[in-house]
Amino acid sequence: MLSGCATVGGRPRTFADCTPLPKVLVDESRVIRTVAGLRPYRRPGFVVRRETLGQTALVHNYGHGGGGITLSWGSSKLAVEQGLPGHGGAVAVIGAGVMGLSTARLVQEAGFPVTIYAAALPPDTTSNIAGGQFHPFSVFDKDAASPEFMVQFIRALDYSWRRFQIMVGDDYGIRWLPTYVEAASPEAKVIPTFPPVNRVIARAEHPFPLDSVRRYDTMYVETGRYLRQMLRDVQIAGGRIEVRRFGTPTDIGALPEQLVFNCTGLGSRELFNDQDLHPARGQLAILEPQPEVRYAALGDFGYMFPRADGIILGGTFEVDEWDATPRAEDIARIIASHKRFFEGFRCSA
Ligand SMILES: Cc1cc2nc3c(=O)[nH]c(=O)nc-3n(C[C@H](O)[C@H](O)[C@H](O)COP(=O)(O)OP(=O)(O)OC[C@H]3O[C@@H](n4cnc5c(N)ncnc54)[C@H](O)[C@@H]3O)c2cc1C
Repeated sequence: MLSGCATVGGRPRTFADCTPLPKVLVDESRVIRTVAGLRPYRRPGFVVRRETLGQTALVHNYGHGGGGITLSWGSSKLAVEQGLPGHGGAVAVIGAGVMGLSTARLVQEAGFPVTIYAAALPPDTTSNIAGGQFHPFSVFDKDAASPEFMVQFIRALDYSWRRFQIMVGDDYGIRWLPTYVEAASPEAKVIPTFPPVNRVIARAEHPFPLDSVRRYDTMYVETGRYLRQMLRDVQIAGGRIEVRRFGTPTDIGALPEQLVFNCTGLGSRELFNDQDLHPARGQLAILEPQPEVRYAALGDFGYMFPRADGIILGGTFEVDEWDATPRAEDIARIIASHKRFFEGFRCSA
């Protein structure tokens, strides 16, 4: 029997040992842009905590590493639960990345007027760079995270998981995709029970050149479109937006609002002298869109997320690298490893 599969009458023919999927066409000539961003990574995990700055109540909501898109709604929910009870009047949110925008929306949904103050707005935030997979990967180091943090983390993940589901659709650029993960990779082991639809599949169920593959279903966020829509949502609900950089906590304490949410991501390292917060650079090569590719894949070769605005190829997590520009040699490596992976398909549609 032949291995692999062939096209018969325009339809892919499947053989017993291989289920075809369309290949991503990986080649330098298909690269439409390259980007790099600095994830706000803390080994002990993100910070959601209330403190006071003179007369002002300040609630931190930063440091979500490689999972800030994923955790945005849930972490912001924890933050507003710490800030809003007992508060009256206007509210300030500092930061207009995914965390600031979701915090602002939750504050508005609770009936409070909000002003967002941010040094940069979408598309010029780290959140715009993100691949946009809903998965809490590289958010903390389990050896450094406290039991209290783990409770926050699970609550945040649970709320986000449900909140993103009710936003699926073209308006926010969110869709479900089957996701195939090399079962031996660390990515497959973050939380064995999450996402709920999650199992090791047989070799005959996939075309990948891998020994063991796990499949789960999760959501993917086209971050540019999502953040644009979230910014509009804040404005439609009457939110004000002011471009402003804060140099010290004292500047924040001088704001007229008596309740402030700090959603400055990596900016909190300098602003609040948080030395646990480190940049973790991620570099991406983006290929021309291929609408027929409707699955994601991750493993030692890197990761591939297909989006309407391009096929995202990634895979670096470089702690303490501060230069947010893509490096030609790293991009070449990302392209080469994905090329090998897709050219190794045992069959294709
Ligand atoms: C390559 C890459 C891939 C990623 N992939 C994923 C993924 O697939 N899934 C996922 O869940 N996450 C992913 N992430 C992680 C995610 O992007 C981050 O965790 C998230 O964007 C953090 O959001 P944020 O709102 O806290 O920070 P940011 O998006 O950085 O926003 C911070 C805001 O605060 C403002 N600010 C900062 N300092 C000051 C100051 N002093 N004064 C005033 N304003 C200030 C900034 O201007 C900005 O508006 C990825 C990240 C990278 C780089």
